[in-house]
Amino acid sequence: MDIRRKLFLKRDPYSRGKDEGLFVRAVREQVKRNAAGSPEYAAILASRSFSPDELVSEEDLGRLPPLPTLFFKRNRIFSVPEKKLVVKAFSSGTKGARSEVGLDLSSLLYGIMMMFRLFSLHGVISPIPTNYIVVGYEPSKHSDMGAIKTAYGTTKFAPALHREYALRDTGTGYELNPDGVFRALMRYSRQPFPVRFVGFPAYMYFLAKSLKEKGISLKLPKRSMVLLGGGWKQFSGEEIDRGSFHKLIEETLGIKKERCLEFFSAVEHPHAYVRCPSGHFHIPSYTRVIIRDADTLEPVPEGTPGLLNFITPLVSSMPLASVLTDDIAVYGTSPCPCGNKAPYFDLLGRAGVGGIKTCAASAAEMAVKK
Ligand SMILES: [Zn+2]
Repeated sequence: MDIRRKLFLKRDPYSRGKDEGLFVRAVREQVKRNAAGSPEYAAILASRSFSPDELVSEEDLGRLPPLPTLFFKRNRIFSVPEKKLVVKAFSSGTKGARSEVGLDLSSLLYGIMMMFRLFSLHGVISPIPTNYIVVGYEPSKHSDMGAIKTAYGTTKFAPALHREYALRDTGTGYELNPDGVFRALMRYSRQPFPVRFVGFPAYMYFLAKSLKEKGISLKLPKRSMVLLGGGWKQFSGEEIDRGSFHKLIEETLGIKKERCLEFFSAVEHPHAYVRCPSGHFHIPSYTRVIIRDADTLEPVPEGTPGLLNFITPLVSSMPLASVLTDDIAVYGTSPCPCGNKAPYFDLLGRAGVGGIKTCAASAAEMAVKK
């Protein structure tokens, strides 16, 4: 039996319960499978004198060599024949400098089951017909960005009556669609169905701000929701704190902050983390998080900021078991006021400064060097 079945079908996504080494065993098996299917990955592990059999306890996970997201931007690497990949996604970024991620059927199915459990718990999965405003891009033939697929996928969690996009496909590119969004929103507000806003925090903010400037204050049907992902990095000049953001949404749309969920995910790490009301991303039992020193890449203790490293045994088609992002985060286990007992990470920002970029880049180079 595939060991992933036990891990990804757990009823409570946040309870590690009696894990009894299940997670580590699943990672070990996956790393072996990835290495067997990809000579490049096997060579990377060998170049670090690492053997998957070293993975015995949770503490050993830190020794599994992480592959930086930059590595996936520079290398296509699969551990199954490409014809076995049933879905592909690309990170945002210019051609040639973006990651290509492909999932085989088993990885996709376990991923879907896991998301179903997690999102059910957070009230995201609903049978009630729903109107959508996608504060992001319309899916199109000319773009295969992971963020577009994620936003579109999110409109499947409650049956869609209608979808209106803030960025409309013109056939060759995208154009802003403020009038269409405004008209759809007014129409939705007269219907009895919940409305869901799905997409980037920055666009959601600009939408709510423009409603406020127009003096509009809606009371959208109960069960309406805001589902955001993709970080706040697009803001740059227009920084706003979460408190004011939630206040603005409640004033203009009548949606309370408990109904505003923020997700974190990465194309190279096909999992989702939900931000709790206290601002923490709690870690489900499907994954582990290690924070690493930006210079030495050694794991750092709880409370010390460093590069965010995700561990997962989900994917059998690519060596994604340990992925090092260029996000700066800090790990925590202290009791959270939200009541969720799972450990968590807090995002502090992105490693935009030259030093850390270089570090990630040299790690990527190290990884390909035999
Ligand atoms: Zn919490």
